[in-house]
Amino acid sequence: MPKRSITETDVLGKRALVRVDFNVPLRDGEVADDTRILASLPTIQLLLDRGAAVVLATHLGRPKGKADPAYSVAPVARRLSELLGRPVATVSMVAGPEAERAASALRPGDVLLLENTRFESGEEVNDPDLAAKLARLGDLFVNDAFGAAHRAHASTVGVANLLPSYAGLLLQREETALSRLLFDPEQAFIAVLGGAKVSDKFAVLEHLLGRVDALLLGGGMANTLLLAQGHQTGSSLSEPDRVEEARRLVDSAEERGVHIDIPTDVVIARSLDSTTAQVVPVDTIPADQAIFDIGPETVARYCRQIASARTVFWNGPMGVFERGRFANGTLGIARCVADATAYTVVGGGDSLAAIDAAGVAEHIGHISTGGGASLEYLEGRVLPGIAVIPDA
Ligand code: ADP
Ligand code: MG
Repeated sequence: MPKRSITETDVLGKRALVRVDFNVPLRDGEVADDTRILASLPTIQLLLDRGAAVVLATHLGRPKGKADPAYSVAPVARRLSELLGRPVATVSMVAGPEAERAASALRPGDVLLLENTRFESGEEVNDPDLAAKLARLGDLFVNDAFGAAHRAHASTVGVANLLPSYAGLLLQREETALSRLLFDPEQAFIAVLGGAKVSDKFAVLEHLLGRVDALLLGGGMANTLLLAQGHQTGSSLSEPDRVEEARRLVDSAEERGVHIDIPTDVVIARSLDSTTAQVVPVDTIPADQAIFDIGPETVARYCRQIASARTVFWNGPMGVFERGRFANGTLGIARCVADATAYTVVGGGDSLAAIDAAGVAEHIGHISTGGGASLEYLEGRVLPGIAVIPDA
């Protein structure tokens, strides 16, 4: 069910309290990557264009409920101001008298960025007092923080219960893309899953099993599946205590007629730093070597399937793509997903870095900004930050 959208209400002369996910990486006191800021600009711009004043709230890092200058939002305010081409005011608090004074002084077109919500110990426990203080900073609430929607915090859920609440454009875009995968995927639907650990993504694998035609696996997660199928994986990253679960997954896939594809050739080395790496079939891995990437035969087979699909979801690198020698599998899959005629969705922080490294971001149907949130959505869980917004 789509949520009540910010586009459908009159905001002229009102103060909109907007929860954004500006949890960006910082380097030397500046924003190192502004992707998340850019993602919410359309919502902010829409509100300003329609005559609202905008009060922004975000978390940044993990300051654990105490003010910590290392996690101040000041660098974010500077970058946002450059992007908007107008001043962005800041206050030294999340809520309380100083914030209230600043918020009530705003005129239409003004922008105020509150200090890091996680400077308040009440944020992560959804404290009603903090929610009430936040609610005094706006006439209405807009949630555009898809990346924080899986957390029931004071600034995502508490305040939404106290003000008329609306979905921002980014939240809507994410929900539309991910719900299309879960509820209306054109067949054939193929999910490509990799990354470090199978345990992180087991619930997603299981939930997608009822929807996809094939699962193509790579990364550390494929190693556990290889173990489950009786292969020796040497010193590869794997989770032996998950082998039973992995076997059940394979059985359940077979019952449903879902094809699970695992690597048939891999790139191995003694360690990440060793100067030699070789491509071998999966059944010839020496005990002192580890799998760090999928091999070219596997890439080619995965790409053929991706090319004939109508819907593709990709999460998790196929190997240790941060090292050039082990990047070919991941970059190869990135290119195939980009070339696909299918509707394509990519999620996960490291997967997005791989998409950027391959230079193909503009050829992806939807790039999800919310790593944890998009995975929880695809597990079939209700995200509290979305659930609290009234239906359209
Ligand atoms: P995402 O952030 O896209 O969800 P993950 O965080 O689950 O992805 O996994 C990314 C990490 O997995 C990368 O840092 C990558 O180096 C690592 N990885 C992938 N394949 C392997 C492997 N075979 N052995 C060890 N690490 C791996
Ligand atoms: Mg990651």
